[in-house]
Amino acid sequence: MSGSCCPSSPKPEPPQKTETEDCCEYHPPQKCGPEKCPKCQELGKTVQRMTLGSLVRPEKRPQIPVVDEFCFCRNPQCDVVYFQSEKIIFRKGDLSVKVGIKEPDNPTVPVCYCFGWTPKTIRAEIEATGKTTVVDQIKTQVKAGNCYCEVTNPQGSCCLGNVTNVVKQVAALFREKMR
Ligand SMILES: [Zn+2]
Repeated sequence: MSGSCCPSSPKPEPPQKTETEDCCEYHPPQKCGPEKCPKCQELGKTVQRMTLGSLVRPEKRPQIPVVDEFCFCRNPQCDVVYFQSEKIIFRKGDLSVKVGIKEPDNPTVPVCYCFGWTPKTIRAEIEATGKTTVVDQIKTQVKAGNCYCEVTNPQGSCCLGNVTNVVKQVAALFREKMR
């Protein structure tokens, strides 16, 4: 027995990297088994246990079962965030952060959790300069090794897809306003 409380858990080997829009090295499978959200019946997306360990409220953490992977419900209308079989469910209120894609009407909820970008800060930059550097800034930070999406992003994976979507929405609204 060593004096340390945690077993060392080596990270899974990242898949071969190609030059893509993705920002992080860890790419979980897109589909979460045959499991559907017990509430809304949407197919979940796989997240690792460490994501729950980081984002579920401390008082709820003892309820996280010891399995490697969980499912994340991506339906914005559904308040279930994580599930694993019918019985294990963590809802929005069980997390210590707000989940961006489940709060589409709140522009202050992060879309990039590592560096704190929100629809509001992206909009502010576009309104001030006519463009946004958010995607480039995130990519630069990722290259520098400063990306922690597995433990900061409730989806447990790269945020760049979400960021790109928000940039498109905000830019479209801005162009409309300028007409
Ligand atoms: Zn759901």
